[in-house]
Amino acid sequence: MKYLDTWDLESIFKGGTNSEEVQTKLATVKEEVAVYEEQLTSWNGESENDASALLEILKKQEVINKSLGQVGTFINMWHDAFMDDVHASVVKGQVMELYSEIQQLSTIFTKKLIAISEDQWNELLRNEDLREISFSLEETREHGKRLLSEDEEKLIAKLNKDGIAAWSDLYNTVGSILTIPFTDKDGQTTELSIGQAMNKMYADPDAKVRTELFEEWEKVWTKNGPIFADILNHLAGYRLTLQEAHGRKGHLEEPLEYNRMTEETLNAMWSAVDAQKQTFLDYLTQKAKLLGMEKLGWQDVDAPVAIGGTEPTRFTYDEACDFIIENFALFGPELTDFTKHALENRWVEAEDRSNKRPGGYCTSLPEFEESRIFMTFTGSPSDTSTLAHELGHAFHSHVMKDLPELNQGYAMNVAETASTFAETIIADATVKNAATDEEKISLLANKLEGATAMFLNIRARFLFEDSFYTERAKGIVSEKRLNELMVEAQKEAFGDRLSSYHPHFWAAKLHFFIDSVPFYNFPYTFGYLFSLGIYAEYLKHPEGFEEKYISLLKDTGSMKVEDLAKKHLDVDVTKQEFWAAGIELIGKDVEEFVELTNQLQK
Ligand SMILES: [Zn+2]
Repeated sequence: MKYLDTWDLESIFKGGTNSEEVQTKLATVKEEVAVYEEQLTSWNGESENDASALLEILKKQEVINKSLGQVGTFINMWHDAFMDDVHASVVKGQVMELYSEIQQLSTIFTKKLIAISEDQWNELLRNEDLREISFSLEETREHGKRLLSEDEEKLIAKLNKDGIAAWSDLYNTVGSILTIPFTDKDGQTTELSIGQAMNKMYADPDAKVRTELFEEWEKVWTKNGPIFADILNHLAGYRLTLQEAHGRKGHLEEPLEYNRMTEETLNAMWSAVDAQKQTFLDYLTQKAKLLGMEKLGWQDVDAPVAIGGTEPTRFTYDEACDFIIENFALFGPELTDFTKHALENRWVEAEDRSNKRPGGYCTSLPEFEESRIFMTFTGSPSDTSTLAHELGHAFHSHVMKDLPELNQGYAMNVAETASTFAETIIADATVKNAATDEEKISLLANKLEGATAMFLNIRARFLFEDSFYTERAKGIVSEKRLNELMVEAQKEAFGDRLSSYHPHFWAAKLHFFIDSVPFYNFPYTFGYLFSLGIYAEYLKHPEGFEEKYISLLKDTGSMKVEDLAKKHLDVDVTKQEFWAAGIELIGKDVEEFVELTNQLQK
């Protein structure tokens, strides 16, 4: 093999979960935290004119975050690669404990920061180092103004564990013991886990299997519906109470603030999606025709399209790496050199073996200022695009590595910019590279799966959640009403084009039950379209675009999205046009799909 498909863990800490180096590091962090606490409590930002004390505190924060981040990442990486290592959770527990200590100190820090008067603050910002990170500091001050007293906030933090976080945990627990019965061709019935059933229900090539599973699926969620209705109502009720206590107006304020964007921008994005929805509804109609159906059912939207049983070309890991490098090279040298470096230095764990966690991600080793990628490569085109996607994330971190730590934190909506961008480069190249029309159709269908998820499915989730939170603010929302709201949202988003809907989707979708982030939906569509908008700009002016692209990525952690887009692309994201350009790009894929499939059917 040209590129090894396992990552190098020994070069981070020697000895795995029993590593002495890890324990030494954790002991150092503990000492650092004690020093930090002392520094913090003795600092009086209000009366000290001097920027140096604040800079010292920030420097200490950075050292602690980096050290603890290094251990935390390492231990997660280890556990994901060797799931049967029971000792991993012991070390994870040690890391969590330190994190919770830091969390409490951070409230004290925020309180001190907001105690500084406006005049004093402006005086401090004359310091060049502080001015460079002023966006993040101002944000903390803004956020801090909402906080209740130190004691109240401490109590809330403690209650969260048995409150909102507990509802979320309970959801996961109940979900983990549910099973869905599946009867195969031979009449043999097996109980599938939720994850297994979901994969099969959406991806099985046999329409009958998908339909039968979907019926069982909805039955199981219905049977347990009362439990999930309670959980969702209490989780949302908790959140709304807290939002009100923090003086927020409406349930969208917090998620918008978290994503550093305005409601105007959100509305412009959804208006653009709605305006061009027809194209994607037509795609569903065409897909239904191809699968021999009049209308697709909810469970058929992502069904594979394999005409005459043709499977797309499979790659070895080496071939996938070379293909990615070759096509990144058409975009720019920085991305290409970075990718080569990452692959050659074993930053990627891609081996197909048991005892590994499913899924893929990119994570960062803050002390090395490097990233690592986890996935399982089996040779399908979607594995190649996952690898490209994660390399995109790693490149994003790479271009930001020399910035101050406080300028490196970006929100969920822009987090997917570089990954989707890299994935788009590769997906386009893969489609172009297809050997036959049949293969091209199947690859286009893969690509359009993402688009329909972003424009239709996630649109439905947002519509549901928006109306649910509006009604929840007035009182408990019954299970029956939750089903009604969900089906209404699905019918609106899918333009009534489906033959069946999923009333208990609000219970089956984990994202509605995440406690740490509200509205875990629109940032996906935002990230996808933001990236496509940038891609559209690149296609218009490819010459020297990489430089522009990198400077945009560098600012993702220190600007509001409206300013970011204005500064680097000279576009206004509060207007529909920017969003429409990205949607049109994908619309071209629909056109090609329809044309090719019509030809084949003649
Ligand atoms: Zn991603």
